Amino acid sequence: MGGGTAGWMTAAALAAVAGRSVAEVHLVESEEIGIVGVGEATLPHIRAFNTRLGIGEAEFMRATGATFKLGIEFCDWARIGDSYIHPFGAFGHDVDGVGFHHYLSRAGQIATLPDYSLPVVAARHAKFAPPLEDPRSLLSTFGYAYQFDATRYAPFLRARAERQGVARTEGRVVDVEQSATGDVVAVMLDDGQRITGDLFIDCSGFRSLLLGQAMGEPFEDWSHWLPCDRAVAVPCADAGTLKPYTTATAMPAGWRWRIPLQHRVGNGYVYSSAHLDDGAAQDALLRSIESTPLADPRMLRFKAGRRARSWVGNVIAVGLAGGFLEPLESTSIYLIQLAITQLLELFPATPISPIDRDAFNRVVDLEYDRIRDFLILHYHATTRDDSPFWDHVRTMDVPDTLAEKMTLFRQRGRVMTYREGVFLEPSWIAVYLGQGVVPKGYDQRADRPSDAALVQALARLRTETRDAVMTMPDHAAYIAQSGAAAA
Ligand code: FAD
Repeated sequence: MGGGTAGWMTAAALAAVAGRSVAEVHLVESEEIGIVGVGEATLPHIRAFNTRLGIGEAEFMRATGATFKLGIEFCDWARIGDSYIHPFGAFGHDVDGVGFHHYLSRAGQIATLPDYSLPVVAARHAKFAPPLEDPRSLLSTFGYAYQFDATRYAPFLRARAERQGVARTEGRVVDVEQSATGDVVAVMLDDGQRITGDLFIDCSGFRSLLLGQAMGEPFEDWSHWLPCDRAVAVPCADAGTLKPYTTATAMPAGWRWRIPLQHRVGNGYVYSSAHLDDGAAQDALLRSIESTPLADPRMLRFKAGRRARSWVGNVIAVGLAGGFLEPLESTSIYLIQLAITQLLELFPATPISPIDRDAFNRVVDLEYDRIRDFLILHYHATTRDDSPFWDHVRTMDVPDTLAEKMTLFRQRGRVMTYREGVFLEPSWIAVYLGQGVVPKGYDQRADRPSDAALVQALARLRTETRDAVMTMPDHAAYIAQSGAAAA
């Protein structure tokens, strides 16, 4: 149900990975309703998704006008004038099982941490080449994602999925037929067609037609922690060096994205409607962009939160139908991918086992909760007091789970670690330090090397990182030489 990025990613994955012996896939979408069509920045996990579907990188990049992404630059977040990059990669390397940042803390040089991240230094120099496989090389210490034209990814996947046997029906769903137990039996289209199925994947976007409307699954509203509920988006022509990263600049009532693609730059202002009206947001965005707009500004409304459960009865929500966390860390497409991976692993037999359903919901919930905390950190850990919006987020109560994490880091630089999940230790360190959460102490095991040895080792690593970056090609040159340039 639905043919946006979520619908076609799910259909393409089911067709390519599960195959017709497991499921016959029938996708219903309405061109008249259309898709959200923003969502240009991604996380490195998307590469595994494309690879699993047999999609070549250059082919994908040509089709979607994609560029490479080494991380996100955050400007003006902790205070106006600040800038830091949250990279896809490590800072330095652990020594004797002790995190690199502890050694820097001990040396009194914690503020220089970005100099030890290859993707940060490469991003600052607009360099890009894919990581090497040799784990001894500094050029293996990072990952990367893409920035792409979100209106082109779903059609690209659709072509593949239809070739692999996915049936597609154009039409507006006007009614949902349910059994006595509440399971969905069929969807009814405006032209009278009735489409039946065993399992319904709700990819209907914010409408949440099956899970929210038909099944009545409640929405957990997180807007008291994440008050941004609107965005205005406008593309413009690129006016400079092709940067291999997304920029998120804090604004008086939210923040503004800048996402460089091959053929244009995507811009948007994500804001809280309680603190700014739509006209003022649009004016502020248009004033901030670097060249003439290429289209009229588009307004989008949303609410932070998720459905209490993503899988209920025989309905599984994927994408915006299941929930939304604002695009600050480019997590939506990742959450779609997570749901698809779980769906493939737990693909139900008939009757559907509640154990599979619970397992799916546990994984999805946990990931939403962790991403929520990570996003709140960006707003809450700030000294900004220049607008009512920043006063609100700086002083609000945060979830206990986040408060505990922040205390742990402030005390001695410890990061609550997960075995799996999206944002691991380097991400938290980047954002803590970038937002001005500086540890008071460090792991005492970092006292082992002598002062002289430590200072010398740090200087060497810093130089090696810079030298390694200088061997990389320019981002734009690499896109051209790898055959990824769109015609
Ligand atoms: P939609 O795109 O809304 O698709 C819904 C589908 O359901 C459509 O095909 C529609 O026709 C169909 N449909 C709905 N109702 C009916 C009906 N009654 N009958 C028939 N068909 C129907 N994500 C990222 O990963 N990175 C980003 O940088 C990012 N930026 C974003 C910025 C903003 C401001 C917003 C709002 C979102 C952003 N996202 C981002 C999220 C991303 O856009 C979505 O996760 C992604 O597009 C998936 O949307 P979807 O497929 O769930 O829903």
